[in-house]
Parts: sequence; structure tokens; C-alpha cells
Amino acid sequence: MRLLLVEDHVPLADELMAGLNRQGYAVDWLADGRDALHQGSTEPYDLIILDLGLPGVPGLDVLAQWRAAGLATPVLILTARGSWAERIEGLKAGADDYLTKPFHPEELHLRIQALLRRSHGQANQPTLKAAGLHLDEGRQCVTRDGAEVQLTAAEFRLLRYFMLHPEQILSKSHLAEHLYDGETERDSNVLEVHVNHLRRKLGKSVIETRRGQGYLFGGQAR
Ligand code: CA
Repeated sequence: MRLLLVEDHVPLADELMAGLNRQGYAVDWLADGRDALHQGSTEPYDLIILDLGLPGVPGLDVLAQWRAAGLATPVLILTARGSWAERIEGLKAGADDYLTKPFHPEELHLRIQALLRRSHGQANQPTLKAAGLHLDEGRQCVTRDGAEVQLTAAEFRLLRYFMLHPEQILSKSHLAEHLYDGETERDSNVLEVHVNHLRRKLGKSVIETRRGQGYLFGGQAR
């Protein structure tokens, strides 16, 4: 999953980026409201974390303009402590959730996880379930037929994306756009290697190749 973080306080942004990367998210970071306005509506983000106090264009205006333009991406806003007016304005402008500064990184991670599942029509349960697999996002491991299977960081990122998009044909370029941040070079051969590793670990039929179209996860009912 690829996230956009819009936060002008550099030490906080650094800390959040590091934590989100550890949680297996690809993250692009912006510090200015003008840049966010443009990039948030042109790049295919799965979720956006938006600070409201921003240089350039205030976060509330950024959010209102995104929504007016039809952007449906889940947005979690970061608001100042004790400012209930800001939270209400944010929710009215189209925020899906909010966190009040300061917050514990774990709370941010759990809210992101819940928002992403909800936006993909999945209930927020202890594990993510699809195609007979249970993915523990906190521990980054998967259970299949009652047996726990260990995943590398790259396999976890890919499997989580598949499990949030079951029975959908996903092209390699689509997957690359959602698994890597804007700075990382996208190599579809690497993606193919990870798909093969997942097949070896979880069974060949779990990810089908649709020639000329891409991959289909969970297409065969188990
Ligand atoms: Ca700020």
C-alpha cells in the first residue's frame, strides 16, 4: 500500500516515515500544501495522512479541494491538541478519521490499518482474511491451514495488497505503483520473483497469471 504523508514538521515526518516503512507501507512525503494539492490528486495513493497546519495552502483547503474534485482516497488528518473546532471542520471537509497531536505511532498504524480495510470492504478484525489465508499485519506473518508461514518484508507488502484486492486482475504496473514510493525504481521482474516466492510458500493456485493482463489473487475458492 502506498501512502502520502503531508507534514511540515520535519522531525515528526522523519519519525512517521520510518515507522510506516517498518509497517510495510511505501510512503511519499510532502511538506507544502500546494504540492500536496497537486500530487495527492495525480498519484494513485491508497491513503493520505494530512497535517492541517501547512505552508502554501492550509490542510483544510487542500482536503476540501480534493473532495470537490472527486478524490475518494481515505484521508486521516492530524490536528492540534485540544482543537475540537479543527477536528469538526476537518470531518466536514471530508476527512475519514483524525488523530490529535501528540499521538503514539501504534495508534496511527492501527487507524491506517482500519481505514484501509474499511475502504476495501473488509471488517476490521485481528487478522486480514482472504482466500483461506489469515494475515497478521502487526507481526507480518500469514497463517494457512492452521500453519504459520514466515514472510520477507517484500512478500508481506505484496501479499497484503493482494489480500485487500481479492479476485481482481492486477497488472504489474498497477502493483508497482502501489507497492513502491515515487523515489524507488520499479522493476516488474522483481515483482515476478516475489509472486513466485508467495506461490511456493502458499500454494501455486493462490495467485494466477492472466497472460497479458496481470495477476489474480484468490480466484479459486479453497
Ligand atoms: Ca504543521
